[in-house]
Amino acid sequence: MNDLDRRRFEDVSREEREELCRGVNWETVLAKLGFSFRQNTKGKLIRSCVFHKEKTPSLRFWPGSGYCCHGCRKRGADPAAFVHEVLGLREWSEAKVFFLGASPVLGMQLKLPYV
Ligand SMILES: [Zn+2]
Repeated sequence: MNDLDRRRFEDVSREEREELCRGVNWETVLAKLGFSFRQNTKGKLIRSCVFHKEKTPSLRFWPGSGYCCHGCRKRGADPAAFVHEVLGLREWSEAKVFFLGASPVLGMQLKLPYV
């Protein structure tokens, strides 16, 4: 494969990230990662934070937008940012594999202790 995009995740523009995340919903992303969640009455998805240890779920996902933890203040603008953080992605091509690939999590290791 000669078309691998080796740019660092941080060097990709907001527009490119939005393009990759277009039509992607949090339910699909969380399911791909193997994360359980529940939906509150306002349509937000909630689960225990994967970035810090806690007993009461503080991590919230806004439909069509970003995520935020009210416990540790970890936040991001979109599903690509969340996947980058959770999987410790280095290259943009890895994010593309996650969102566009048939077997996205294959070969990728979760790097978080609190999942
Ligand atoms: Zn947290």
